[in-house]
Amino acid sequence: MKQKYSIDDNGFFGKYGGAYVPEILYKCVHDLQDAYLPIIESEDFKQEYHALLKDYVGRPSPLYFAKRMSERYGCRLYLKREDLNHTGAHKINNTIGQILMAKKMGKTRIIAETGAGQHGVATATVCALMDMQCEIFMGKTDVERQHTNVERMKMLGATVHPVTTGNMTLSDACSEAIRDWCCHPRDTFYIVGSTMGPHPYPDIVARMQSVISEEIKWQLQEKTGRDYPDYLIACVGGGSNAAGTIYHYIDDERVKIYLAEAGGHGIDTDYTAATMKCGTEGIIHGARTLVMQTNDGQIKEAFTISAGLDYPGIGPMHANLAELGRTHVEAINDDEAIYAGYELTRMEGIIPAIESAHAVALLRKMSFRPDDIVVLTVSGRGDKDVQTYLNNKQMAKEYGDF
Ligand SMILES: *Cc1c(COP(=O)(O)O)cnc(C)c1O
Repeated sequence: MKQKYSIDDNGFFGKYGGAYVPEILYKCVHDLQDAYLPIIESEDFKQEYHALLKDYVGRPSPLYFAKRMSERYGCRLYLKREDLNHTGAHKINNTIGQILMAKKMGKTRIIAETGAGQHGVATATVCALMDMQCEIFMGKTDVERQHTNVERMKMLGATVHPVTTGNMTLSDACSEAIRDWCCHPRDTFYIVGSTMGPHPYPDIVARMQSVISEEIKWQLQEKTGRDYPDYLIACVGGGSNAAGTIYHYIDDERVKIYLAEAGGHGIDTDYTAATMKCGTEGIIHGARTLVMQTNDGQIKEAFTISAGLDYPGIGPMHANLAELGRTHVEAINDDEAIYAGYELTRMEGIIPAIESAHAVALLRKMSFRPDDIVVLTVSGRGDKDVQTYLNNKQMAKEYGDF
């Protein structure tokens, strides 16, 4: 990767990133910094990781030509179907990699934070697979909102700890997971769910998700006769499915990159999660990045209809890419995402996660030439969101009353 886009030796992407952790975690974080690249690059790891992605997750995920949506938007639209992975989203690409890493480092206890519960479920799943103890931290508000995912995690053998500090959502769950890690630095591996947290996590997660663009390359070659698209589109919460989607194209300036963050009620209101539009430089969960904060540095609560995008920070690599103008970031509001969710459902028979619907909503804001090749990552499936879609169907009136 070109120097200006890639991570430097100290774990920075431009001025963003780094590892701002309490002293008690220095050793843990440094051990991981020393260990992660040799592990990821070892033949042993690669073989085990790819075998599990293939037979357990079900990769490669299809690259599907969306004919009706292509006609509607006047381009050649391909959907990268991460919604078809085991557990229903891209998150498992990362949890499989990190649990293998934890085993190689001799750790016996796994902790993770979760918001919507998708990362918690993916983590509990791989812990069951590998017979590891699993503790999940989840804000009490989310435990109540995401009941089914809590039951899935318990069924998989995980202990779910409801977090009652702060707003009792994802950001508080992250803080609590870091606190737990401080108490058990020796035996515990913290599986971070997105391209956030202290170095080396953003780099680890991006590498684990990079399988998405690795596959897009050969799949596009097969389907279109060339291995790059004109446009890549993805949604961003912390930034992991987006990082995976763009990873092998970052240096290829022929490829334009459009990312959707969650606008909530709108970026000119207090009810938003659009960190790249509304955030300022600060430190959150061990990294310097853009953060939604008050003038005196208190982290603000993020707001969006989509639990998986509900985070007041953003992965440092995305803060840097947006600042350099390599990526175009748009905020998509709740009503636009709901509409796009119904649209994809009715046009292609695919109910997307509400997070992914934010990426779909970007199509309306762009203009294409008929021969443009567009790849849009559907990060997850919408089964978990059916109630939310129904509760908000007035935002998609065109699709009728039902
Ligand atoms: C968690 C999640 C996201 C947001 O996380 P990123 O790290 O930004 O990818 C998006 N889509 C789905 C389906 C998710 O579960």
